Amino acid sequence: MRQNWLPFASYNLWLQYSPPIGKEHLHCDMKRGFTKARSKEPAVAAILVSDSIPQRIGLLAQRGVYEFHQNSPMLHQQDAVEKIVEILELRKESDLVQQRVLQILTNYQQNPILAEKKIIQLSRGDEDFPEPILIKQGNQSFNFYAAIDCIFAEEDNTLHILDFKTGHSDFDRRQGYIYLLAASYWYPNQKAVVSFYNLENGNWSEPISATSNILQAFQIELALIAQRHQEDLRRYRKNSADFSKIFPQNPGVSCRYCSFNSICEFTISEAST
Ligand code: SF4
Repeated sequence: MRQNWLPFASYNLWLQYSPPIGKEHLHCDMKRGFTKARSKEPAVAAILVSDSIPQRIGLLAQRGVYEFHQNSPMLHQQDAVEKIVEILELRKESDLVQQRVLQILTNYQQNPILAEKKIIQLSRGDEDFPEPILIKQGNQSFNFYAAIDCIFAEEDNTLHILDFKTGHSDFDRRQGYIYLLAASYWYPNQKAVVSFYNLENGNWSEPISATSNILQAFQIELALIAQRHQEDLRRYRKNSADFSKIFPQNPGVSCRYCSFNSICEFTISEAST
């Protein structure tokens, strides 16, 4: 039976409304407009299907970790990194991507942090959207999407959600709480913690846990974001000429790193910044 369309929320959508601390200068609401309201336009769709370099590195790094654990004895084989390079077809990637992913694979073989863990779930990184969690908040219902990299069980059976990072991005605690909210629906009777591990520099955050009050506060915030996003889309469908009023541009240094700078009329080039 076909499900009625519902508003949705996710950590990724939240990020598009409110950047993490320290990334405010890169925030631009118009990026959300391109991604969410104009995604079917051919020029926008072409941009959305191609991964940026950081996305590509993140994806291949996740896949590399997954491959190590598909065949655990491989973790101890001398030529394991080489084999995974073949599986990932890494040689087809740009020099920068090859170099960084090769380093990540080498780091991981030297310090395979999941080697002795009871892994419950380990994502390949290229799966389709996960099944949404249907949340009822007050008189509103929305679909909540959470794509989790890895879950393992601690010795005392606490679920440990692990999020892999690459590059210099700081850990955003909001993401941790969002994952704990998802775990509270998937595994309602189990204690859970979340942590972040950077595959490039080996930084592993302290585990974060949450009380039910914190999770409730995050659920309310997600419900508001779902509502706000639905309203933005409704306004755009009603009058697409209002695009820049609904999704205001923030030209500046943000344009340099923006995937839409080739099609955005407000972009500011490096020369003029
Ligand atoms: S190019 Fe600049 S103004 Fe246009 S969407 Fe990107 S960041 Fe915003």
